[in-house]
Amino acid sequence: MNKYKLCLFILGIYTSSFGQHTVINAINCKISSQEKEQVELMAQYQINFYKRIFDFEPAIVNIDLIGKHKDYLALSHHTNAKYKTAGFYQSTTNKAYVDKTRSSYVKTIYHEMQHALIHQVVPNVPAWINEGMSELFECFEVSKEGVTPSIQGYKFLKMKEYISQNKLNLRAFLGLNHGEWQAVNGTEEGYSYTVSYSFVCFLFMKYPNAVEKILQKIKQGKTSIQAIEYATKKDFTVIEEEFKKQMK
Ligand SMILES: [Zn+2]
Repeated sequence: MNKYKLCLFILGIYTSSFGQHTVINAINCKISSQEKEQVELMAQYQINFYKRIFDFEPAIVNIDLIGKHKDYLALSHHTNAKYKTAGFYQSTTNKAYVDKTRSSYVKTIYHEMQHALIHQVVPNVPAWINEGMSELFECFEVSKEGVTPSIQGYKFLKMKEYISQNKLNLRAFLGLNHGEWQAVNGTEEGYSYTVSYSFVCFLFMKYPNAVEKILQKIKQGKTSIQAIEYATKKDFTVIEEEFKKQMK
């Protein structure tokens, strides 16, 4: 997988949004102005990405940043999670909740805000592309100069392993609803994140603008497979083979 290729396809998103896009409610903790700025820049970046596809006025992304680990654990979401999470987005409250005691909490905010934004434009977003996009944006680097794409290389190595162990049925995986996706992730820790992330990266690298078209088609009610076939102009069996080859 070529890191620079990924950068090519995702860069070129212009900063054109003004105003505030995030509200961080720091509970029993503080967040530095520099981190706040990074969060805001990332929100703008993600909004600009979705504005290239959909005409929408983004709602403010509300984030509860929780300073005490036990308070975070007490949130109801946790009782269902098999593995400990660092944050989650809840559509019913339209809020992201992030555990500030984790060292990577800023990355977690980037991840959870993507869930908040994609729900605004594609309410029926399938689990694989929802989590794949969050994983993608999560690892991007943010500085005063802007956002720089970066990759989670270890996930590609994991993906390679799953493929060589015959642990991938991509067609079935892409059809999983959110609950099933979580359940699969629970049987092998991180499996669903790895496959979702790797496949989204593959699409960005191999088929420029395919992810954008896929999201549009899904919004119109097409299945993931139909949307992928439309966007790549290829039969899904070919795409699955290409993906496996690319990851080797
Ligand atoms: Zn997520």
